[in-house]
Amino acid sequence: MVTDVLVIGGGPAGMSSALSAGENGSKVLLVERDETLGGILNQCIHNGFGLHYFGEELTGPEFAHRFRKMVEREKNITVLTSALVTKLGENTATILCKNGVKEVKFKACVLSVGCKEKTAGNISLNGTRPMGILTAGTAQKMVNIDGKMVGKDVVILGSGDIGLIMARRLTLEGAKVHMVLEINSTSSGLKRNILQCLNDFNIPLLYNSTIFEVVGENRVEGVFYGQVDEKFNKIESTRKFLKCDAVILSVGLTPDLQLLPNIEKSKTSGLVVNEHYESEMPSIFTCGNALHVHDLVDNVALEGKEVGRYASLYAQGKLESGKTIKVLHSADFAYALPQTLFEGEGEVELKFRLKNKIVRKWIKVKSEGVEVGKRFVLAGVPGEMMTVKFSKNGVKNSVTLEVE
Ligand SMILES: Cc1cc2nc3c(=O)[nH]c(=O)nc-3n(C[C@H](O)[C@H](O)[C@H](O)COP(=O)(O)OP(=O)(O)OC[C@H]3O[C@@H](n4cnc5c(N)ncnc54)[C@H](O)[C@@H]3O)c2cc1C
Repeated sequence: MVTDVLVIGGGPAGMSSALSAGENGSKVLLVERDETLGGILNQCIHNGFGLHYFGEELTGPEFAHRFRKMVEREKNITVLTSALVTKLGENTATILCKNGVKEVKFKACVLSVGCKEKTAGNISLNGTRPMGILTAGTAQKMVNIDGKMVGKDVVILGSGDIGLIMARRLTLEGAKVHMVLEINSTSSGLKRNILQCLNDFNIPLLYNSTIFEVVGENRVEGVFYGQVDEKFNKIESTRKFLKCDAVILSVGLTPDLQLLPNIEKSKTSGLVVNEHYESEMPSIFTCGNALHVHDLVDNVALEGKEVGRYASLYAQGKLESGKTIKVLHSADFAYALPQTLFEGEGEVELKFRLKNKIVRKWIKVKSEGVEVGKRFVLAGVPGEMMTVKFSKNGVKNSVTLEVE
């Protein structure tokens, strides 16, 4: 098979970049391992999607459906579902699909394969490994897609958004969600999810707390939990036992880069990218949760649109770059993206996440000590993906993000 742009992964990032590449005149092959396009949205049956992109509040499947319809109408896109990309090289990929193995040649590729959840093994969860320990995404799929309950008495470890959403979902399905334990002193979840998914249902969120040990032979029988000090050491005097039959883990997501195991990763665990979201591997572009874990799907779709256009221009030999400007940041930031810009004119946007909560501060962009851009933040938390725009006219060598 031969195509201009190969898009791997048919979630919102992939569908949006395929659409944009197609609209910009490139032939696109969109490959998705599931039977239908939509990605993680298909299992997110709650509302809260699409406010920025479509101007209305949609459920995950509704948001995905709108994109699927647009993809179907775009004549430049060929969709291949139930097809897994197993190998990715420079300008070639191997696809395992229903009727065998296919090799595809492409001019540009968009890697939009989403992210994966951290498991009990990833966080070295103490105790036994009985049935009933699940990641929040797996629990969500079981409840929302397969129609199966995960337990009656639930403890959630980690206050990431999926865990918060599952606290509400399991409560609505009749389970008793006893508590959410968060090892940090702040939540990585969105404020609105803490309000709507925990506070509205009187589910306690215990900060500086964690599971000390899971107990159970075949099935989870309970957990020992308690508080931790500032170095995350267990404070044994706070140890308590809670009877439960399920432990749901919401302890972090990380970009899924199984297809490129040997390439250098950035602070987000995604690929290092330039202003065009092109990685250090020529012709490989990336976006969505495969690049950095997003808070809102609307941002994923917007990023996909931009990256699809760049990939299309690259495939047509029209993408211009230039001398590189490094993007640096102070210790207040977890990361900033893209890692490099190109010298030239016009406005650019940097995306970033904070390490800690800030209140009434300026985010400033400086180049060689001179301020080139800024934005005021009334209250910023690590759970929120933020952006700052500035004009790069005259900017050379590097820009640095700072909090003042
Ligand atoms: C539980 C949960 C709740 C959320 N709630 C909200 C919310 O209320 N509001 C909001 O705005 N956002 C929400 N989000 C965030 C939003 O859904 C995600 O940010 C968005 O779906 C990420 O899109 P993506 O396309 O990058 O990844 P995904 O949606 O994960 O799509 C990636 C796709 O790639 C496919 N794939 C992976 N590897 C391969 C391969 N090798 N070959 C072929 N295909 C492959 C996968 O099957 C998948 O379909 C939520 C996310 C989760 C997980």
